[in-house]
Amino acid sequence: MKQPINIVWYKRDLRVDDHAALHRAAASGVAVIPLYVVEPEYWQQNFSSRRHWHFIYDCLIDLRQQTAALGQPLVVRVGEIQNIVSELHKAYSINGVYAHEESGNQWTYSRDKAFISWCRQHKLPFYEYQNNAVVRRLKSRDHWAQLREATMSQPLIPPPEQIVPVAGLAEGKIPLPDDPMFGDSVQGTVQQGGRFAATAALRSFLTDRSAGYVKHISRPGTADQYCSRLSPHLTWGSLSVREVVKATNSFLQSPQVSLHHSQRRSLSAFSSRLSWRCHFIQKLEDQPQIEFKCMHSAYETIRPLEGDLSAYTAWAEGNTGYPLVDACMRSLIHRGWITFRMRAMLVSFASYHLWLDWRQTGYHLARLFTDYEPGIHYSQLQMQSGVTGINAVRIYNPIKQSHEQDSDGEFIRRWVPELRQVPNSWIHEPWLMSKTLQTKAQCMIGTDYPEPIVDHARAIRSAREKLSQARKQQDYKTEANQVFNKLGSRNRPQSRKPMEKPSTQMSLFL
Ligand SMILES: Cc1cc2nc3c(=O)[nH]c(=O)nc-3n(C[C@H](O)[C@H](O)[C@H](O)COP(=O)(O)OP(=O)(O)OC[C@H]3O[C@@H](n4cnc5c(N)ncnc54)[C@H](O)[C@@H]3O)c2cc1C
Repeated sequence: MKQPINIVWYKRDLRVDDHAALHRAAASGVAVIPLYVVEPEYWQQNFSSRRHWHFIYDCLIDLRQQTAALGQPLVVRVGEIQNIVSELHKAYSINGVYAHEESGNQWTYSRDKAFISWCRQHKLPFYEYQNNAVVRRLKSRDHWAQLREATMSQPLIPPPEQIVPVAGLAEGKIPLPDDPMFGDSVQGTVQQGGRFAATAALRSFLTDRSAGYVKHISRPGTADQYCSRLSPHLTWGSLSVREVVKATNSFLQSPQVSLHHSQRRSLSAFSSRLSWRCHFIQKLEDQPQIEFKCMHSAYETIRPLEGDLSAYTAWAEGNTGYPLVDACMRSLIHRGWITFRMRAMLVSFASYHLWLDWRQTGYHLARLFTDYEPGIHYSQLQMQSGVTGINAVRIYNPIKQSHEQDSDGEFIRRWVPELRQVPNSWIHEPWLMSKTLQTKAQCMIGTDYPEPIVDHARAIRSAREKLSQARKQQDYKTEANQVFNKLGSRNRPQSRKPMEKPSTQMSLFL
């Protein structure tokens, strides 16, 4: 007789703690296969990259250790989910497949739909659980914040005490980070992934690094030490957002901890961002078309879908002639992370100064960000390109940002070595140097480092005119209201929220 089993299908939830699907699958007492499927077709999509795989690889190594400690090591297979489950079905009697709901790209959504329908055909029960506090089939945005709060106040789900192992099953090799399947090689480094790195980052952020969070949050040269750097862990699920919310609340309320008010302020700002995270992913869940279509249709065709290729290449490679823009892009290419403000500036520069469409620039950034999270990504791309119809248009001035965020030019010199000898007074606008100064700084503009690709003031004026034309369209306001009703934030001041009681699971992180 075939052994009865449950399958836990791991996707962007690579942990055993606070994992509803694993908990439920194990609770029935039958053997469990924790399964991760490496899908070659996914890795050919224009949003996926080897950098993501590097991070996932670390997560899978840790997850295999953790599931092995519970009784059954993680099983890894390469192929399509249907085929893999179908093979397992021949050898075992599958009681059910358990997974988290994924609010991702159209590709993963279609894959999930096809798999669910395949399960139905084969009479396999498929159970899905909420992820990231995102509500599937949400009727109205009005009470979403309360629903999120309710999810966050529920206790963390403990890992099962044990998983009954499956007889005679090969674990399968986890493809190495240099496997050709994962596309172009990574230029530079990748943040360490996995549960151990995740809990270490959370611990060091809460107890120490958060002290400088608000002060450094936008500065590209120092923010990496003071920001939490939890984003890839949340994206790939080595931490759940609820774990982070609870650990933060517990830390803030712990009687043993005495915090300076600036650190309290920092942790409160951090908590708001955790809530924005859920808010943005909910937008994609509610309106998956935002991966492809502008939220407000008035902006749908204002930019060419395939803009000027030489402008795109200059932006994508960090050769626009604007030092901070180039330093940010080159640093991002090398490290896979940059601050929120600098991400916004990179998109703003591409969208307004170069008039490139977010659908042309967004995939490049998706591949570079280790933390690529579709819900946040497409919402932010649209906001920073001014195409939502519900957010104030914010055009970043790259020279002003340069003065404010890198006043001594240290970050610029690190990533744009052509400008190393340029004195502080010229580092933000090196094209203003005389030929004599350029010779002295060993940087001839137009030869060693590009002339500015566009004139800032002229480009911005032209962008504003085009946006204002789009706003004159008939029914603009009616549609903007509809967008707000469907996707807009019903912001409630953070201070009014009651704090939860400290969690007993605090010791996990501190
Ligand atoms: C154009 C653009 C694209 C972006 N794409 C992504 C993306 O693909 N994945 C991603 O995780 N973040 C994205 N962000 C948001 C933000 O830049 C990153 O979350 C943040 O820089 C991650 O660093 P951290 O973990 O140290 O953040 P912290 O400042 O320590 O914040 C803690 C967590 O809150 C969440 N968060 C922070 N800022 C935001 C925000 N503005 N909106 C929603 N959630 C937020 C993240 O999960 C983050 O890990 C994007 C921002 C812009 C402007």
